[in-house]
Amino acid sequence: MSDCIFCKIIAGEIPSSKVYEDDDVLAFLDITQVTKGHTLLIPKKHYRNILEMDATSASTLFARLPKIAQQLKEKLGANGLNIVNNNEEIAGQTIFHTHIHLLPRFDETDGLNIEFTAHEPDFTALAQLANELYIGE
Ligand code: AMP
Ligand code: ZN
Repeated sequence: MSDCIFCKIIAGEIPSSKVYEDDDVLAFLDITQVTKGHTLLIPKKHYRNILEMDATSASTLFARLPKIAQQLKEKLGANGLNIVNNNEEIAGQTIFHTHIHLLPRFDETDGLNIEFTAHEPDFTALAQLANELYIGE
């Protein structure tokens, strides 16, 4: 897509700090570096986000995660790593070309704070909701 910033990075029209590349994907440092080594993994083919992808294109992309995650953790001496993917504006997506954030974690003060609001489990409601949502093969 001509007006997509990540397509421009793939085309070499905008510079990026690459950490991994093959025929199908590119991984490069996020300019904001939420934590040290904050990396974005993107498919070379343009998709708006995961909601637009099929199993094959998603498999190709996600298959690269273990190696890149393991290498980042090892090379940075990180203690762990968060993997985040935002889909649509409400979920925090600002660049509309599928990307997966890899965020190496060092300690509680390393800059990333992901909080889940937990609710008391209601097992009847859970069963009912799962029934409504059940997805066939
Ligand atoms: P999201 O909010 O999930 O859409 O994330 C988009 C990410 O792209 C943000 O973390 C930005 O810092 C990052 N970003 C935007 N432009 C560039 C760029 N030219 N090079 C590297 N990262 C970028
Ligand atoms: Zn694109």
